Amino acid sequence: MTLVVSDLSVHYRSGDAVVKAVDGVSFGLAAGERLAIVGESGSGKSTLAMALLRLIRPPGRIVGGSIRLEGEDILGLDAEAMRQLCLSRIALVPQGAMNSLNPVMRIGEQIRDGLEDHGLVGAAGWEARVTGLLAAVGLEASVARHYPHELSGGMKQRVAIAIAISGRPRVLVADEPTSALDVVVQRQVIQTLARVQRELGAAVLLVGHDIGLIAQFADRIGVMYAGRLIEVGPVRALLRAPRHPYTRLLIRSVPTLDARLERLTGIPGMQPALVDLPAGCAFRPRCPESIAACATIRPTLVATAPAHRVACHLH
Ligand code: ADP
Ligand code: MG
Repeated sequence: MTLVVSDLSVHYRSGDAVVKAVDGVSFGLAAGERLAIVGESGSGKSTLAMALLRLIRPPGRIVGGSIRLEGEDILGLDAEAMRQLCLSRIALVPQGAMNSLNPVMRIGEQIRDGLEDHGLVGAAGWEARVTGLLAAVGLEASVARHYPHELSGGMKQRVAIAIAISGRPRVLVADEPTSALDVVVQRQVIQTLARVQRELGAAVLLVGHDIGLIAQFADRIGVMYAGRLIEVGPVRALLRAPRHPYTRLLIRSVPTLDARLERLTGIPGMQPALVDLPAGCAFRPRCPESIAACATIRPTLVATAPAHRVACHLH
């Protein structure tokens, strides 16, 4: 396993309240594997993604669990060792490249800065590296001379991918990398991510909310609800035969092409506040199929098939 996350918990403290944004999440990523994480807004997806790179800032804190990257527990590393690790072994494709790119720096210089910071390229030879990285994401060499505002949203997101792969990391973490783009461009950017991932052989954790888009990219899907991973399985199995009632509702709420004009099913009710989770299953108040045990016993992930796990008392 390239990445092994065990019982990871991340809390945000505000006054006396503690928001359990990630609450005991465990999963593994094999070399070259593509895992997508889906779930409603506020379910803890971004917090999980940032925790993998140790980018959680106060009032947030990783309060428990472990993250092993190629066997090494990265939660035990000091800040400098962690900085060295980022880009060369694990890298982030940020949500909305417009905020991650420096507006007053040419694209080529930004890519070079990242390479130099991590000792990945010397004074000579960086131009060829930049050109190669831009080509890998389908951009012409001339883009290096441009400033971010001269590029379209899709091009900026490709630049963000180029920077993320510049250190040839073993794990790429992408947090809704296409959310600000229009549908056609989203698809192109995801295809670009898929291509560079294949060439690099890196494992990917992709956070997204468009299940249709994600299904084309991922090998496996993990579903988060209220800070917990409640189902994880191969894409086909999970979409064809979802086990958790929440996953079923989530998939049913995706508009299909011919149902586009019909009203979306939606999922009745609201996600519970993460400061005050109900005992037992967090989805019980909204679940159409709950049984007595759901009110008191927290379900843990159990295997229903070799690669398919679900946290639900019905299984
Ligand atoms: P998602 O990416 O699935 O929308 P997030 O990880 O952004 O979810 O948020 C999970 C929970 O953590 C939410 O309840 C959110 O309000 C809370 N949260 C996220 N960031 C902060 C922060 N900086 N301070 C306090 N609470 C936060
Ligand atoms: Mg998010």
